[in-house]
Amino acid sequence: MMADREKDLEAAIDAVRAASSICRAVQQRLVTADTLEKKDKSPVTVADFASQAVVCEVLQTRFPEDPVVGEEGSADLQGDSVAALRGSIVEAVADELGYEPEEHEVLAWIDRGDAKADTARYWTIDPIDGTKGFLRGEQYAVALGLIENGEVVLGVLGCPNLPGPSGMGVLFSGVLGAAAQVHEIDGEGMAGTPIAVAAPASLAEARFCESVESGHSDQGASAKIAAELGIATEPFRIDSQCKYAAVARGDASIYLRLPTRADYEEKIWDHAAGMAVVEAAGGRVSDITGQPLDFRQGCTLKANKGIIATSGGIHDPVVTAVQKVLGAG
Ligand code: AMP
Ligand code: MG
Repeated sequence: MMADREKDLEAAIDAVRAASSICRAVQQRLVTADTLEKKDKSPVTVADFASQAVVCEVLQTRFPEDPVVGEEGSADLQGDSVAALRGSIVEAVADELGYEPEEHEVLAWIDRGDAKADTARYWTIDPIDGTKGFLRGEQYAVALGLIENGEVVLGVLGCPNLPGPSGMGVLFSGVLGAAAQVHEIDGEGMAGTPIAVAAPASLAEARFCESVESGHSDQGASAKIAAELGIATEPFRIDSQCKYAAVARGDASIYLRLPTRADYEEKIWDHAAGMAVVEAAGGRVSDITGQPLDFRQGCTLKANKGIIATSGGIHDPVVTAVQKVLGAG
């Protein structure tokens, strides 16, 4: 790996580790505080903003010139009515950093994520991908990707609730042209173990995964596609970019994300990091027509529809089956 890319990777891993630690702390409090039952969404809001703040703080220190395209902005954090929320966010950040930053500093970090995706190089962050999973106490991911000249070159996924080689929680990295690896989520340094996709013995034996939320992917259509491919095993449903991680390490060989609405534009922060991990692990990622994902369209993938990620060798027949079922090809 080039020395510069190694610096990018080191920063991304450090940033995602810090953010994952915040999310884990907030989720633990949430479970014990029974907010799950009360359907109180404020804990996820605290973790979301605090996670974006620490990622932006790390990136600002290492690469002051780099723009960040984040899912969150601090516009909703202005005014007296949300003073308590701001306080909780600063507390969550302080617990992680080990010192209490000023409120305006934390808000400035969050706002560093306001960049437009229109520069040659930029980072994109989903501070908590899969907020519904987070609230259910299930899967979610901290997702950070790096884009250069319209190409995803690196991605890191923190998956605090996914079992890894050393217990609960695992971090994935993918560097295009180099390697995909798993790392300790609360370790230090860049040590990792290589991972690779697993090709199923036959298409019929492929395992596929999809969203838990039926509003995010057409589960009726995916069942027909599975039948078309001769797959009898039920899909496994998990929230967030943990689906890309599952394909990258061979837990699944197909991830289908089939549009539920014609006008929905996939967001770059929902896919950049996951795509990097899958491709670096030897897999392939395209939209439902087999076109490569186009990261030159701003903060959405407006030139694409849906997502197909696979272990690679089976990609073309999967695209064909998707097209047949969706009636587009
Ligand atoms: P997942 O956990 O894979 O179901 O995806 C969570 C992501 O779905 C969120 O980060 C949202 O940005 C995204 N999302 C929201 N609405 C839709 C939709 N109608 N179709 C696809 N994705 C969506
Ligand atoms: Mg998301």
